[in-house]
Amino acid sequence: MQHLQESIQKVEKEILQEKKKEEVKGLLSEMKKIGIEKLPYSYSALKRFIDPETMNVHYNKHYKGYVNKLNKLIQKRKGDDDLEKIIRNISRFPKGVRNNAGGAFNHALFWNMLTPEEMEIGPEIKSRIIKDFTSIDKFKKEFSKIATDRFGSGWVWVVLTKKGTLKIMSTPNQDNPLMNVIEDGGFPILGLDVWEHAYYLKYKNRRDEYIKNFWTVVNWKFVEDMYKMKTESNLIQEQSFRHLINESKSSFCTKTETEFYRILMQNKAIKNIYSSGIRDILKKTFKNNWKPATREEMSGIYELEIFPSDEKGRSIINKLDTNYSVLCFFVKDLNRVLRSQGIDELNFFTSPANQEKEIKRMLNYIEQWNTRIFDPNSAIFKHIFEVLTKKHQIGENREDFAKKIISKNLPDSVVNKVGRLGSKEDAFKKIDMEVTINGETKKAQVKGFMELIPSDGKIVVTGAGDTVKYLNIDWMIFVNLQQKKVVIFENTGNVVMGNYVFDENAMIYNLS
Ligand code: MN
Repeated sequence: MQHLQESIQKVEKEILQEKKKEEVKGLLSEMKKIGIEKLPYSYSALKRFIDPETMNVHYNKHYKGYVNKLNKLIQKRKGDDDLEKIIRNISRFPKGVRNNAGGAFNHALFWNMLTPEEMEIGPEIKSRIIKDFTSIDKFKKEFSKIATDRFGSGWVWVVLTKKGTLKIMSTPNQDNPLMNVIEDGGFPILGLDVWEHAYYLKYKNRRDEYIKNFWTVVNWKFVEDMYKMKTESNLIQEQSFRHLINESKSSFCTKTETEFYRILMQNKAIKNIYSSGIRDILKKTFKNNWKPATREEMSGIYELEIFPSDEKGRSIINKLDTNYSVLCFFVKDLNRVLRSQGIDELNFFTSPANQEKEIKRMLNYIEQWNTRIFDPNSAIFKHIFEVLTKKHQIGENREDFAKKIISKNLPDSVVNKVGRLGSKEDAFKKIDMEVTINGETKKAQVKGFMELIPSDGKIVVTGAGDTVKYLNIDWMIFVNLQQKKVVIFENTGNVVMGNYVFDENAMIYNLS
């Protein structure tokens, strides 16, 4: 227990230090950068496969070189660039990006596909291999042949095809089977670098020997996880690698990392376990501030903040159950402590059944350590509070902006913000705003959005955050503060994979 307290305190200190650093650097420019994947073992750990000198140069010079050049090339682009997104849409980028993004992505995968541990082939991937290649031996033979035959620099891959079968293929230079310029590609679950820089120092021209020794260091657990995730998981394809290869070293979560947890919470069973678990923990932790529901207000935590005298009321902490930035922060924060204790880290990069187990395990840790996490003087708690307050403030800004734009464009309308934090309108009915035009009042929910994408008579609204289908609402009002746009739909849409989808004719106003 003593150890644990120390670890937690250390983590808190690191958080404070990092926070200062982050503020100086400017979050935005940092978030755009493609990160360098940490080597999961020492340079000498894979000796039976490769010598420490090669490993060192390969990692520090070749791999980091690709990442740094890539960051220079994409520096001036607008918006979020995610490495996997670049790879999947590589045809849209100039030539230089293809080689460097490929190099960055391939090597990030490669480091994770190797391990110093001696591993048995996992059961599911094994039976798939036998189905597709008749035996492990034949599979290895075919892989070795394609690797030996690769002319010049390139990679050999085991990919999962759209049909769910395995295929061995090779790509030239730093191309990856996920690139949209590769014909008959697939989802890579194992790969081998057959550039001379990967083996020449140790093996000279004996590539076949390099390939033979490769089998002694394959991380079959990674391969099995990848395979199972692709065949069992309900996460959309685009999310697949992100958690694994883009985890930033900061305690704070990037947009991409938070997005992973937002998508994870599209699974209703998992979301219910998490949200109700968090509410239970809050109720226990702040039992003196917990109030049952009244006519006007929901049950929850009240008067926790020192409000300005006239604004005593429902605490912002009640929003914790649906805030995915904080969920992501919890995972990273708990994992640091678990890692330092040698306990298995929380891992949501797995099948839905296991994700459910992991959410429960996480809630147990939060409960176990609740006096530290929810200590009003701790750095962790202050951070949580800040995130929730900021998100709430953005919501307020959106509503103010929507009110301004609607009033400007529709001079005969009356717009009222309703649903003070914690009131029944806010919490139960989810009404943010009422718009009255020609004597008719529409109840509205206000959300942010990123893009409107027309598709087959439908419009997909992306980036709306926590996507829920609302019942007592007439209008869905979407606001993009950067583009200064307000788009209003009838509340007839559906939620598909974390986005709202409406019929074209459900759009009532497109204002700016
Ligand atoms: Mn290489």
